[in-house]
Amino acid sequence: MKAVVYENFSSIPKIMNVEDPAPENHGVVIKVAATGVCRSDWHGWMGNDPDIELPHVPGHEFAGIIEAVGKDVRRFKIGDRVTVPFVSGCGSCPECHGGNHQVCGNQTQPGFTHWGSFAEYVAIHHADVNLVNLPETMDFTTAASLGCRFVTSFRAVVDQGKVSAGQWVAVHGCGGVGLSAIMIANSIGANVIAIDVTDDKLALAKSLGAYVTINATKVTDVAEAIKEITCGGVHVSLDALGHPTTCVNSIKSLKKLGKHIQVGLLVADQATPAIPMNLVIAHELEIIGSHGMQAFRYDAMLAMIKSGKLSPERLLGRTITLEESIEALVNIDRVNPPGVTVITGF
Ligand SMILES: [Zn+2]
Ligand SMILES: [Zn+2]
Repeated sequence: MKAVVYENFSSIPKIMNVEDPAPENHGVVIKVAATGVCRSDWHGWMGNDPDIELPHVPGHEFAGIIEAVGKDVRRFKIGDRVTVPFVSGCGSCPECHGGNHQVCGNQTQPGFTHWGSFAEYVAIHHADVNLVNLPETMDFTTAASLGCRFVTSFRAVVDQGKVSAGQWVAVHGCGGVGLSAIMIANSIGANVIAIDVTDDKLALAKSLGAYVTINATKVTDVAEAIKEITCGGVHVSLDALGHPTTCVNSIKSLKKLGKHIQVGLLVADQATPAIPMNLVIAHELEIIGSHGMQAFRYDAMLAMIKSGKLSPERLLGRTITLEESIEALVNIDRVNPPGVTVITGF
């Protein structure tokens, strides 16, 4: 099959012909129809993910059609239209038994722990636990955009933040995660404040449901600006970027008993931000992580998409070919246009 392969970290990937994957007994092979280009792929390519072994194929947010099925798979068959959350659980560890596949101790992640979806085919393990059937009405490009940023935001806002109607929610960073979170929080009746450093992303945030926007470069103190707007702080705040500054701003913008949800990845020299623990204690704040979402929770999200409350297709950016994905991947820290870039040409 054709795949995007890198043989060393930070060296330009190449299109190569490699062996087709075969399904494990509990797994499937999926013919990739669409796959998103994500900052996490870039972090992996930079060498910031210890799970990656070289040579490697990136790609973890995708949708497609089942091409081959292992002998132990019961719930899925060849020809099914499917997607997966970016974290796949093993189905048999204590976390999976507790329904928390997103933190499975034996988790697999295509594009990290094994070869990913910047290719014609991708293998998925423990298919019965991790695959999600796509509604007939959902196209592959939209479905590919769900598996990473959208589901992570859904879990962050709904399951971890437990956001309710009338609450104030701050979203720090308006990339794919942030814009998803804004749409989701707005759809359940929260008043959303969007923070970013570029006006075009804030304009998009506004169109997706942000009630107020703040350009962080135009205020002296982001947290103070949020406290002024909300008369004391927000109930829930998300660091949707993953940076020490947005993380600390997020915590400082909370009202008493507020919840900070860390959604953006903090890696390498940014991995240990200086958390203001004095505020966490004095204001009884909660600091919560959000890492993907279990496949079984897609039902709730897909129902909201079907009813029109959520429109993930509005977060789509450009569609590109597998060849064009190399440039999109290596330049993502420099050229990162609004919306999710999806590979649809293989
Ligand atoms: Zn597990
Ligand atoms: Zn991703």
